[in-house]
Amino acid sequence: MSLLEIHVLGSPVLRKETAPVTQFDAPFQKLIDDMFETMYAAEGIGLAAPQVGRLERVAVLDVDGQRLVIVNPEIATSEGTAKGEEGCLSIPEIFADVERPAKVVVDALDREGKPFSIEASELLGRCLQHEIDHLHGKLFIDYLSVLKRRSAMSKWEGMRRDYPGLVRNLATETKGEHRHDGEL
Ligand code: ZN
Repeated sequence: MSLLEIHVLGSPVLRKETAPVTQFDAPFQKLIDDMFETMYAAEGIGLAAPQVGRLERVAVLDVDGQRLVIVNPEIATSEGTAKGEEGCLSIPEIFADVERPAKVVVDALDREGKPFSIEASELLGRCLQHEIDHLHGKLFIDYLSVLKRRSAMSKWEGMRRDYPGLVRNLATETKGEHRHDGEL
C-alpha cells in the first residue's frame, strides 16, 4: 500500500465529475487500499477519489469502526433535514454547520462490484452524502451562506501557502499539524 497525496481546495480535480467504475480489477483494488491507508493516516472518516486526484466514482469511509467502500453510489431516497458540523480533508481546519437530509438510503456497489443498499442517519448519513458530493465535484462549503463562506475562505487564504502545488503530503506533514478527527 502507499500513501497518496490529498488535493486541497483550489486543485481543479476536486471540481470534476467522476466516471462510473466498470472494472473491479487489481489496480482498482489497490486504489481502494491506498485510499484507506491515506484516510487513516490523515485521521479522516471518509475519502473520495477526486481528493487523491482520481476520477473513478469511488469513496471509502470508516465511521465508528464501520468500514465501507461505495462504488457508483446513488442516493435512492432521503428524508428530513439535520444540521451538523462538517470538515474536509481537502479543506483542512475549516469547519462549518451544513444542513442536509437527516436520513438517506444509498444504493452502491461494493469493491467487488456487488450491489448493496445502506440506510443511514447521524454521522454515517452525513458522511455518505459528503462523499457522494465529492464524486460530483461538490464541496461542503458550497452549502454555506455567502457570509459564512466568505469567512471560511479568508481563513483558507491564510493557510493555503502551507500547501504548495495544492496537495497535502501526509508523509512529510508533522502529526498534529492540520490533522483533526472527523474530517471527511
Ligand atoms: Zn471532504
